[in-house]
Amino acid sequence: VKGLKKYFPVKTPLGRTVEHVKAVNDVSFKLFEGETYGLVGESGCGKSTTGRTILGLDNPTEGELLYKDQNILDDPKKSFVKLKKDFQMVFQDPFSSLNPRQRIGSILEEPLIIHNIASKQKRMDMVMEILHKVGLSSDNYYHYPHEFSGGQRQRIGIARALIINPKIIICDEPVSALDVSTQSQIINLMQELQKEYKLTYLFIAHDISVVRHISDRIGVMYLGKIVEEAETEDLISNPSHPYSQALLSAVPLPEPSIKKERIILKGDIPSPLNPPSGCFFHTRCPIAEDICSEKVPVRKEIRPNHFVSCHLVD
Ligand code: SF4
Ligand code: MG
Repeated sequence: VKGLKKYFPVKTPLGRTVEHVKAVNDVSFKLFEGETYGLVGESGCGKSTTGRTILGLDNPTEGELLYKDQNILDDPKKSFVKLKKDFQMVFQDPFSSLNPRQRIGSILEEPLIIHNIASKQKRMDMVMEILHKVGLSSDNYYHYPHEFSGGQRQRIGIARALIINPKIIICDEPVSALDVSTQSQIINLMQELQKEYKLTYLFIAHDISVVRHISDRIGVMYLGKIVEEAETEDLISNPSHPYSQALLSAVPLPEPSIKKERIILKGDIPSPLNPPSGCFFHTRCPIAEDICSEKVPVRKEIRPNHFVSCHLVD
């Protein structure tokens, strides 16, 4: 993902001018085959829009998506039809992401029909198989979404993404609507399926403890930008961007040996209609200096594979 931007136009109240909500504002990262990349940040920081844009649910304003040696945005129609089969999404809300009038069998068969995969009989076999893979039974084929619990519905959402054998699954807060014990069951299931199907995950969440559990690397987002990126344990034990430090200070960690004080940030997240000058974080940063409001910080590699965008971090 290279220089990805997604701006949403909004009209001012009198409709005279158009402003832009800069939801994703120059995001770049690599997703390696077989890994889980966790994207974290508070709500409204652009995580979901990044995922939706990669998937083609939103058209990007600018940027490149390089996949299998081609920029799939060059010719969105042609290449997306061919490559979209490789990209699937598991949505946040297992209640609204399944059509209440459709039986589970038909929900799971739909992607196969859209992508013209297999005969009718074969499709039914594939649905039965995937139901078992996600821990549901063949009987569930004839049931409706309302007959299932939140965790079971998310299993159905995962089955729907998996059935056409994708390479990359974008998981947009797949467990945040579930209670804690169900969360761990779904995360474990996702990890088993990742191994079995050699999947690559982009795992979006606001909850660092969930992301930490499943991710190989983590990117921290603030106001449409990735401000820090590192391998998971490195980021958790040595957060270097002041925003990551504040975010992590709010999370209870299992190791009592790591002492930390809660960092309370002043103010609210600024509006993405009008992001601050220079470093977007300067209005809330506890250590900001003059340069911070004047110049946009460049991304630096402070240790191998650990990147930070901050003027004051070396
Ligand atoms: Fe804080 Fe300045 Fe670093 Fe931005 S560049 S995070 S304002 S110290
Ligand atoms: Mg979201």
